[in-house]
Amino acid sequence: MAGPEAGPASVAGTSGGRGGAGTVACGGGERGESGAPGSGGPAGDGGAERSALPPTSLSPSRASDFMQCPLLYRFRVIDRLPEKPSEAATRGTLVHAVLERLFDAPAGERTAPRAKALIPGQWDRLRESRPEVTELFADDPDGQRLAGWLAEAERLVERWFTLEDPTRLEPAERELFVEAELESGLRLRGIIDRVDVAPTGEVRIVDYKTGKAPRPEYAEGALFQMKFYALVVWRLKRVIPRRLQLVYLGSGDVLTYDPVLADLERVERKLHALWEAIRQATESGDWRPRPTKLCGWCDHRAHCPEFGGTPPPYPLPVRAAESGTV
Ligand code: SF4
Repeated sequence: MAGPEAGPASVAGTSGGRGGAGTVACGGGERGESGAPGSGGPAGDGGAERSALPPTSLSPSRASDFMQCPLLYRFRVIDRLPEKPSEAATRGTLVHAVLERLFDAPAGERTAPRAKALIPGQWDRLRESRPEVTELFADDPDGQRLAGWLAEAERLVERWFTLEDPTRLEPAERELFVEAELESGLRLRGIIDRVDVAPTGEVRIVDYKTGKAPRPEYAEGALFQMKFYALVVWRLKRVIPRRLQLVYLGSGDVLTYDPVLADLERVERKLHALWEAIRQATESGDWRPRPTKLCGWCDHRAHCPEFGGTPPPYPLPVRAAESGTV
């Protein structure tokens, strides 16, 4: 399936700036999307500044936000409301950093003890780059909760060795920032945890999850992000990844999917429809709340009408739906 351009260099070799069509650039930034809520950075797909701007690109997380609740998307991408770091998300960032750094070592030295030994240093590094995460343990004077949290990070790292063997892996890319512009002008972006390329040129996209695998009926939702990345790689390189692999460290499961062209065309149509809905909401200012049980994890209930709150004033110009005037 993968053609002669499918080698490692072809996945990551055309870094040509982050803004242009058909670019792939290696990301050297924080784990997760740039601007991910709670990261301490700008919270959205719309640019690097704090001022409100219409969204200009779509990432898997923000696409999922909009599908979950349009108002949540607005709060994160348009209003850029701050979010508190969570223990689970911060541990995920830490574990991802450890798994990435482990591949710096020679293959034979990529052992579980070595990986676990990386945790304290990576935790220090995380606290330096994102000082807000120290708030998580501000009320933990004797360090007990922190110790338990770090022990859980160790367990997650250890479990990875029961699912994959890093001594037999030589990733072509780790934490790869990818960005592609579709013919419609829609820009897609994200960070792929790991890209493996077989000697035959076949590409495997791997993502680590520190939570548990979803029940089978929810697997499609979990694969959305992976198909999104597969679409980006395909649009950039005309190579369909041979395999998409989700590694669930929380439950010790591996979910794989071998995409075909029809999958990628389907996800592309879905993203166009989603982007059109986002565009209309951006122009009209009509961002509906969609309450679900996930509201329990939403940081913005105080601003949400479903919970008696009031959203902040809409910071973008609004176009009346009937007249089409600004
Ligand atoms: S509380 Fe629920 S309905 Fe309200 S913005 Fe958050 S996710 Fe949406």
